[in-house]
Amino acid sequence: MFNILAESTPYIDLTTATWMKDFFIVLISFFIFLWIVCIIWVGKDIASRTNNILLQIVSIILITIFSPLIWLPLYIIIRPVGYKKDNIPWREACALNMISCYNCGTFNPKEYECCIKCGEKLRIKCKQCWEQYPHSYQYCNKCGAPNIEFDL
Ligand SMILES: [Zn+2]
Ligand SMILES: [Zn+2]
Repeated sequence: MFNILAESTPYIDLTTATWMKDFFIVLISFFIFLWIVCIIWVGKDIASRTNNILLQIVSIILITIFSPLIWLPLYIIIRPVGYKKDNIPWREACALNMISCYNCGTFNPKEYECCIKCGEKLRIKCKQCWEQYPHSYQYCNKCGAPNIEFDL
């Protein structure tokens, strides 16, 4: 009887140790998952903020090497403040009879099909009347149908 009691104490310790191990595995898996999500998020975020390939690569490499714990707060401080879309001076472009490229912001003459700097298509086709109009328009200038790609 005494023997059984004496043996049961280390058994309880072993269960606690296994539980702790499982807990750490779950914790580490969760952290790795979070890390991967952060890498993807930084990749998407930096791509929407700059066309500078070097800056994009450096940001992604740094978050992969250093953990998000260290690099994410730093990244939020050093990243370019505005989005590429915010830089479009589309009112000025309208006044000058020019179209600004939604991708790189370069001014192009209105009759051009593609951007002279990055090759991106300058106009989209209206889903309702097939009229072509610049990406920056929120509504079709011919029939008033909303530009469904505007927020993309
Ligand atoms: Zn462009
Ligand atoms: Zn239309």
